[in-house]
Amino acid sequence: MKAQILVVEDQTATLDLICDVLRGAGFEVQQAQSVAKARDSIQKATPELMILDRGLPDADGLDFLRELRKESKWAELPVIILTARKAVEERVMGLRGGADDYLAKPFHTEELIARVETLLRRTGKSPAPPPVQSVGDLRLELESRRAFSKSAEVKLSAKEFDLLWFMLSNRNRVLTRDFLLQHVWGYEEGLELTTKVVDVTVSHLREKLGAGGAVIAAVRGFGYRLDA
Ligand code: CA
Repeated sequence: MKAQILVVEDQTATLDLICDVLRGAGFEVQQAQSVAKARDSIQKATPELMILDRGLPDADGLDFLRELRKESKWAELPVIILTARKAVEERVMGLRGGADDYLAKPFHTEELIARVETLLRRTGKSPAPPPVQSVGDLRLELESRRAFSKSAEVKLSAKEFDLLWFMLSNRNRVLTRDFLLQHVWGYEEGLELTTKVVDVTVSHLREKLGAGGAVIAAVRGFGYRLDA
């Protein structure tokens, strides 16, 4: 889920372009063509970032920004000021006026996206990257449930993936067979179960991982440990 962005720009063509580009990059977009509408919109939806034009029909975007910054709710809102005025003093004024970044019109769409993503990351508003774990040449992606050794995909069964992911999450810890049965296979504690399934799955995993499988060490009398 990408961040929600409020775009405040009075020129329809520019507004449409910015909104299209942002939506294309997966963002949720709200738009306003005046300060009055922006004020209205910001109360209803809670944007994670605002792109604000300076030259608006009812006020200077910077004045609106100064007004917003006085409210604690909006004091930290990441804001990119949009302006056709390229003079250095304008830029400095924009940043002093509470803007986090500045984009001069005309701009490249890639630059717009790059600025937005950089600012979201810098302010910690960007959603966490999809979970990935790696050790040595081995890399696991939780979302797609795919495993890679160097760049080649290793086809794992569902249980093999679960086991490897769990071991990576608990690296350098000795994991008993019972513990693995409970946490990876979902067996209840205290049941008399054969732990052979763990050994079989580990041996399949090692086989599939080839040299990379050496990270899984057997701990005699206990179970297994993934060494990282
Ligand atoms: Ca304008």
